[in-house]
Amino acid sequence: MNQQPAPEQPADVVTRLRAAFRTGCTKPLTWRTTQLRRLREMLTERGADLAAALHADLGKSSTEAYRTEIDFTIREIDHTLDHLEEWLRPESAPVPAHLGADATAWTQYDPLGVVLVIAPWNYPAQLLLAPVVGALAAGNAVVVKPSELAPATSAALARLLPEFLDTETFAVVEGGIPETTALLAERFDHIFYTGNGVVGRIVMRAAAEHLTPVTLELGGKSPAFVDPDADLAVVADRLARGKFLNAGQTCVAPDYVLTDPETAAALEPLLTKAIQAVYGTDASASGEYGRIVNERHFDRLTGLLDSGRVVVGGDTDRSQKYIAPTVLADVDPASPVMQEEIFGPILPIVTVPDLDRAIDFINDRDKPLALYVFAESRTTRDRLAAETSSGGLGYGLPLAHLTVSDLPFGGVGESGMGNYHGRYSIETFSHRKAILNKPLG
Ligand code: NAD
Repeated sequence: MNQQPAPEQPADVVTRLRAAFRTGCTKPLTWRTTQLRRLREMLTERGADLAAALHADLGKSSTEAYRTEIDFTIREIDHTLDHLEEWLRPESAPVPAHLGADATAWTQYDPLGVVLVIAPWNYPAQLLLAPVVGALAAGNAVVVKPSELAPATSAALARLLPEFLDTETFAVVEGGIPETTALLAERFDHIFYTGNGVVGRIVMRAAAEHLTPVTLELGGKSPAFVDPDADLAVVADRLARGKFLNAGQTCVAPDYVLTDPETAAALEPLLTKAIQAVYGTDASASGEYGRIVNERHFDRLTGLLDSGRVVVGGDTDRSQKYIAPTVLADVDPASPVMQEEIFGPILPIVTVPDLDRAIDFINDRDKPLALYVFAESRTTRDRLAAETSSGGLGYGLPLAHLTVSDLPFGGVGESGMGNYHGRYSIETFSHRKAILNKPLG
């Protein structure tokens, strides 16, 4: 019988990659662009393999898999290839007079070394590969740990990535808590973690042992504030599309609607209409609607359905891990659905008397990953921007800010630290070395 070779131990993977990094092979621009082009080839040639895996893990439709994971990553690669040389250019700095007129100073981007990327299950391809684009572009050796909760995607990535990328400097380690714990015991030069804050703390504690810097891309409850002056039919349509994508399992999904009682009442039928326009009257029959990742999350989410009056949805089927797109009204801020990030297809509407109370409501809670504001009034928009803190802010459209490659994507406070995308990924995965030159002559 043919025996599979035992998987390489995390410690051996890191030692091997560090030795390869030391040779300097990852530093030339051509190595970096070659790796990015190979990753792009993987996505174009084998995108269908990934889409099938995403369907198996999350019931993701092919359209959604391409739009939010595969093509998303291709765009990130293209943007990086277009600008990398310019981003990496050394930047000169003015020199103080006491160093003499012949002295010059500049900064240069150095790769960090061997970096670790730990990915979650909800966009298990995009949230692993988009950080990898930045890590490779910055000239690092990379270890990736896909989420065990999206096993088909994890297996597909573990099979495909080594076919396309330089395996001397790139490795996939599959597994769950024991494997991640073993990886975290190693010394990395940066750890990039996407997931929840409980594990974020575990990652940061482990990183502290080696003084390893971390980027933590976490989550939280992202509010959608709706002003009475907004066109509510447009708001309902955009909320429905943003909230129920990937069955609500999106870190920047609008978690709850915050508005006044009259606007809430007017929104209810419009949300019902908008959901039905996207997914039909029975979303379980729509090929475009996803499923909950596993039974544990299904049970957690169905436990939240009693937190308010069901306006639309509420149907569930455990055998299919199906929860209908659901809107809850008359939701008490003290109810279970308002205590934790929902991360599923349930949209509670919470009412406050006015804008001042809405701002207080947001500021009384953890800083969200995103805040969405639907308002025509310039004063209302400006006040929410100035008087609240969130990782990102979207006026009029949920989720879309993260598709702008020139915007940094990341959280603040409980929603995370650090950011990435485009040139911000180069900042994250490089050291900006300060250089002074005083001629000897
Ligand atoms: P998850 O359970 O897949 O965990 C993420 C990673 O942590 C996995 O690779 C897993 O193996 C590892 N892990 C889990 N337990 C661990 C432990 N005890 N020790 C070490 N490693 C461990 O994903 P999740 O946390 O359920 O993801 C959902 C959360 O992620 C939500 O809060 C969501 O908002 C957040 N999120 C944030 C972003 C972002 O970009 N900011 C994106 C997606 C998800």
